[in-house]
Amino acid sequence: MTGKLVVIGLGPGDPRYLTPEAADALAAAEALYGYGPYLDRVPPRAGQIRHPSDNREEGARAAAALRHAAEGANVAVVSGGDPGVFAMAAAICEQIESGPDAWRALDVVFVPGITAMLAVAARIGAPLGHDFCALSLSDNLKPWNIVARRLDAAADAGFVIALYNPISRARPWQFGNALERLRRHLPEITPVVFGRAVGRPDERVNITTLAEADAAQADMATLVIIGSRETRVIARPGRPPLVYTPRAAAKVSA
Ligand code: SAH
Repeated sequence: MTGKLVVIGLGPGDPRYLTPEAADALAAAEALYGYGPYLDRVPPRAGQIRHPSDNREEGARAAAALRHAAEGANVAVVSGGDPGVFAMAAAICEQIESGPDAWRALDVVFVPGITAMLAVAARIGAPLGHDFCALSLSDNLKPWNIVARRLDAAADAGFVIALYNPISRARPWQFGNALERLRRHLPEITPVVFGRAVGRPDERVNITTLAEADAAQADMATLVIIGSRETRVIARPGRPPLVYTPRAAAKVSA
């Protein structure tokens, strides 16, 4: 018997954002592994076993799923959004690299999903319409001085910045500190977008400026987009504004 491991992106929450490929892979799996709230999004299916775990246990979860697949089962590991963006796909690869040889012989498939920054961007226009980068503000897996250096470099280089994991109970000050740093590099009027729980019933999307942005506006379910110097807001009568970054960058003097 040959086992299989499928790493599946569920998208940001709205079931319409689940790809048909992901839905098929979920239906075919004998066992599902993932963070509890993500597993709760998957419709129950008779005979399928669920192994929920805490969101800090990615390494142990990946290893458990690999062990199970190596026993011959068709196992799925789920992530919110895309599994390759600050999520389980890398955790699985880490375990395969350091684990037993049998894990390298497994059939491993990665099924992409719509990542949070794309879902948030689509709500308000085209903020990622020109060069951008994605940064996790979590300093659980890297020291804060690396985060700070990357923020400085990205803002200076003119990237729009999508900030994942802006804040949590265990990391209360980092996002406020990041906003302060960014204010040293970017004009006060730089557009900032807070997209919370996009694709879920409690979705909230706010557009503000770097001067007005307040760390208290973000929580664990929020993705923040920091504009570049090029990012613009189009006011519209009777409709919400559009935020976009033009495709052509202004000439920068050398
Ligand atoms: N793999 C996920 C990201 C996991 S990191 C993806 O591709 O989207 C978790 C962070 O993602 C959260 O702190 C938040 O910044 C962002 N996020 C996840 N789902 C979101 C949603 N529905 N709306 C807004 N942000 C979301």
